[in-house]
Amino acid sequence: MSYVIAPLAQPSVEVRGTRDRFPVRRIFCVGRNYAAHAREMGNDDREPPFFFTKPADAVVASGSSVPYALRTANFHHEAELVVALGSGGANIPVANANSHVYGYAIGIDLTRRDLQSDARDNGRPWDTSKGFDRSAPIGAIRPVSAGGVIESARIWLSVNGKIRQDANVADMTWNVPEIIAELSTLFEIAAGDLIYTGTPAGVGPLVRGDAVEAGIDGLDPLTIRIS
Ligand code: MN
Repeated sequence: MSYVIAPLAQPSVEVRGTRDRFPVRRIFCVGRNYAAHAREMGNDDREPPFFFTKPADAVVASGSSVPYALRTANFHHEAELVVALGSGGANIPVANANSHVYGYAIGIDLTRRDLQSDARDNGRPWDTSKGFDRSAPIGAIRPVSAGGVIESARIWLSVNGKIRQDANVADMTWNVPEIIAELSTLFEIAAGDLIYTGTPAGVGPLVRGDAVEAGIDGLDPLTIRIS
């Protein structure tokens, strides 16, 4: 058997402290998971978690240049804690959800905010606003085996050296075990899945030439340039 076109490359992410890479199976994202961001988007801050997805090949490594996205005039950054799964399942209890976490990284959920607003106003899907090419920059993954579980840590993002987002992952409305448990009632999640866990307040527009840096204390920072 051979393929009729060249086999596609496996999307993957750098793992800190090793030359091995984390293969990406699926990318799940949580909407509105910090009260202050939910409020800045005009929503109630007690809403249950909801999910959307990005294609696995949307991952972009730190140090990359990211072209300003097509068909948008409002290209936004959202700094997020990313959870990388080392195992999975369906209907995972909150109590052992953390046992499925391989590691963590800082990521940016790049968003075409104008298309998202149109989708929301017209009751249409979010795919074009969220699941587009190169929409998932991510830094190196730090394995739990190397750095432990993250429950509280500063998360921040700067543009051209000026801080735009500055919060703590402990302020998430739904914490990581709760997100994994809820997500696994909707999908059978598995090793290789990434979960972008939502962004704190301070989202805003990017323009060509911007130098974007994001980080979570204890993890390698993520830098991208918009071209
Ligand atoms: Mn987001």
